[in-house]
Amino acid sequence: MTPTREDERPDPEDSAHTVASLWALRACEVLCVLMFSTAIPWQRVTTWFGVIAALGVLRWWHVNRPWFRASPKPARQRVYRIYMWVLMTYVGSACWFLYVPANLPIQAVLMSYLLGNATLVAVRLTGDVMRTTIALVLAVLPTSLRFIVEGTLDQHNLLVMMGVGGLLMTVTMVFLSRAQESNVKHQVEQRRRAEAAANAVAAMGLSKSRFFAAVSHDLRQPVHAIGLHLDLLMRRGQAAQDRASRRALDGIHQSWRALDDLLSQVLDLTRMDSGAVQADLRPTELAPLVADLVMQHSAVAEAAGVRVVALVRPAAFAMADALMLARVLSNLLDNAIKFSPAGATVAIVLRGARGQWRLQVRDAGMGIPHVAQERIFEEFVQIDNEARDRRRGLGLGLAIARRFALLMEGDISVRSRPGQGCCMTVSLSRAAPPTPAASIAPAHAGAAVDSGPAELGVPPHEEPWPPSVLPLRDVLLVEDDSLVAAATRQLLRSWGLRVRHVETADDALREGAHARADVAICDARLPHGGSGLDVALALRMRGKKVLLISGETNAVLREAAQFHEVQLLTKPVSGPTLLAALQAL
Ligand code: ADP
Repeated sequence: MTPTREDERPDPEDSAHTVASLWALRACEVLCVLMFSTAIPWQRVTTWFGVIAALGVLRWWHVNRPWFRASPKPARQRVYRIYMWVLMTYVGSACWFLYVPANLPIQAVLMSYLLGNATLVAVRLTGDVMRTTIALVLAVLPTSLRFIVEGTLDQHNLLVMMGVGGLLMTVTMVFLSRAQESNVKHQVEQRRRAEAAANAVAAMGLSKSRFFAAVSHDLRQPVHAIGLHLDLLMRRGQAAQDRASRRALDGIHQSWRALDDLLSQVLDLTRMDSGAVQADLRPTELAPLVADLVMQHSAVAEAAGVRVVALVRPAAFAMADALMLARVLSNLLDNAIKFSPAGATVAIVLRGARGQWRLQVRDAGMGIPHVAQERIFEEFVQIDNEARDRRRGLGLGLAIARRFALLMEGDISVRSRPGQGCCMTVSLSRAAPPTPAASIAPAHAGAAVDSGPAELGVPPHEEPWPPSVLPLRDVLLVEDDSLVAAATRQLLRSWGLRVRHVETADDALREGAHARADVAICDARLPHGGSGLDVALALRMRGKKVLLISGETNAVLREAAQFHEVQLLTKPVSGPTLLAALQAL
């Protein structure tokens, strides 16, 4: 709901009526009682000021009750106004009760008192011209008019001047209030515009996420199909083809890998931005994880002539998702090696800091200029690669790494000077070593799903083919995308399987009732809103083994598959992964 000007205005009483200001007002009133008592019977003065003090205390007590503070703002404002009208009307009555004809000093005290009161109210109401005017008129006008009417310019000109002063003061306050009101209006308008702009940006972000989710799903289908065809082609034709064809095939394969890599990274970002990725935080020992990484990168480091050393003490545990942390460190190590000159050393160092572990990846490379140090964590930002040379990376690694670090409730930062190398630091909370029972569980013990290379973590690599021996004969393929279906069918046939292909959920259930298929491979999203998971569950009830393949970045589907213990692969799925999954069934 858009805020109204009324909502924007602060509660007049919230800050104004502190205990100190309450007692300061009471002290003023006692002083006034003393002064007026020199000219008017003290009983009248005390009663008049007593009523004012009682009203003030009553209001203070009332507006400080917890139930009053908890009431809605419009109701509170109404109560404040009632108190104010009552008080101002009563203050205005001073022109009868405290008026002493011909006693000019006392009249001056009266005028000062009234103006003081009016100023207080005007200060609180400034910004609301109508209410300020009414309040001032109620409090000051009766006495000002009486001064003017009863004073005559030759005898009581001081009285007349006081009356005119009162009127001028009223008018000034009204103008002040009007200026303030336009200021408040301006502020409200500005806030409204800022809110509208923020909403528009949020809506754009959401539609961008949706757009990427849709695009990446649709991109995955052909990439998945090309990969399957390619695997088949490479396996079949390696021996037979001439050198030129093999080189062309290798080129296609490399391009497919690059496309797969880009798609995987964009998908990782999309998944994280849409909240589909969650960290599985467990006490993770850092030394073995780092040792594994160093080993994995040893070939690349050797080729670049870079030495990698790890200085990580054993038995240091951090709260982390092992896969995510490996992915983060792998990216940092990749960069450190990539940007180091031959003969340099890259060090992974563990440091302790209040309740945290800091894993630093240090290199002696070209470093990063200060102005670019935050930008490198943004998507597609690379320094000195305006031509976007793909061989120098995609510029997504650190964007993903930072998101992973944040998901693990940690952070990642950079310290660097151009020409003097770079130190990337991943900060994570310390954890106590896990109890022996918990440590038996693998890092993702709960997962009944196979994340596949497009899921977290595993950077694309050449997968070895498992021996294509399958204890199966017949496969029911439920896939509506003709390209994917054709590629999968061919690949399955190359493994000696008989394939029955259907496109819809109804056909799958009908076929499943009598076909002899041992295994059903189901696409997760079927035509006419059909759910691959429902089909898989129904077929499993009929004694078939099921494998679900999804092109979606959808956490709900993953959780549902996990819950029902259905194996889920995420597209693009390579030939070796599919073969291994079928063997595991
Ligand atoms: P990529 O390495 O794929 O280009 P990243 O997101 O990992 O993408 O890195 C973004 C950019 O940050 C790199 O292109 C490079 O310019 C800079 N960068 C990252 N790490 C280092 C490093 N260790 N030394 C120098 N520059 C680096």
